[in-house]
Amino acid sequence: MKDVVVLTEVIENKVQDIDFELFGKAKELAGVTGGDAIALVMGEGVNVDDLPCDTVYYVEDAKLSDFSSLHNKVALKLIDDIKPKIVMAGNTSLGTDMAVYVAAALEYPIASLCSNVSIEGDNIIATSVAYGGKLLVDTELEEKGVILVNRGSFPMETGGSPAEVKKIGLDELGVEIDESIQFMNYIRPEEDVDISKFDILVSVGRGIDGEENIEEAKELAEILGAEISASRPVIDSGWLPKSRQVGRSGKTVSPKLYLALGISGASEHLEGVKAKNVIAINTDPDAPIFRVSRVGAVIDIFELLPELIEKLEEIKG
Ligand code: FAD
Repeated sequence: MKDVVVLTEVIENKVQDIDFELFGKAKELAGVTGGDAIALVMGEGVNVDDLPCDTVYYVEDAKLSDFSSLHNKVALKLIDDIKPKIVMAGNTSLGTDMAVYVAAALEYPIASLCSNVSIEGDNIIATSVAYGGKLLVDTELEEKGVILVNRGSFPMETGGSPAEVKKIGLDELGVEIDESIQFMNYIRPEEDVDISKFDILVSVGRGIDGEENIEEAKELAEILGAEISASRPVIDSGWLPKSRQVGRSGKTVSPKLYLALGISGASEHLEGVKAKNVIAINTDPDAPIFRVSRVGAVIDIFELLPELIEKLEEIKG
């Protein structure tokens, strides 16, 4: 019992970004256990040659092209055969669906909402985020475990390829076709832009004080090659579309730089901020955002923005 399996989720024939966040961690853990980092992929026409892990188990069949309860059955069969020490999946609806089914059937202890996982001796330490990020809870799983990992917890691992791809036919597994959960249709989220893909975000909060003022923040974003994101009050006010919301009920983002303009730093907002560097601009020196900021300025954004834009334009020539 040494291997670490990433139970990947495939949507529209593509392994999802969250799994690429798990591969690096899976390899690190497999290095400790002395096992392999294995990607388990189910689908049809999926490119599995660029998955950065040791081995891919790829069950290819048209019946697996869209998610259904058959995925749970196949995952269960393969994980029962592999007998890994750790199964990792994204803490998403598909990841949770499969992971919970497997954990219950094989009696693996399970930890959800995890932001980290490590190994101590024979046990697995899963760190879960609780109370909107105010508390980190370590759970010790004895011997084996299923870990559901929050998006943005680990950096994306790309550029590798598996040493081995084991292609398995669905009929070889002897799994009973189960149609209790069936795919109906994929509803693509309405989004003008995917803010989780940008290196720099200029994020505006209630302090921006009106839709018309966002133009200035957009100007700054353009100079920096950044995108505009926002806290929930800005979205609720209808100043920006929902796709721009960062936080618990919005997106998790992990840019290199997160510039927070007039954002207080409520825990529900910070839950979605996994940035390497946060720069906060706020008139309140006690605003919680400063606790997570590398650099902060206690100043009115409307005083700072024009000067900042001017200086940056000067620098850019
Ligand atoms: P405020 O908390 O009002 O902060 C505004 C800040 O701007 C203040 O710190 C103020 O000092 C500063 N300011 C004002 N004027 C200026 C100025 N001229 N110059 C500089 N600074 C100025 N929130 C999210 O963001 N994302 C979520 O996904 C989310 N999900 C939630 C889910 C649940 C279940 C709940 C209960 C809440 C959720 N919230 C979420 C709301 C969250 O609790 C906060 O209310 C919200 O994040 C506050 O947004 P804000 O910082 O923009 O506003």
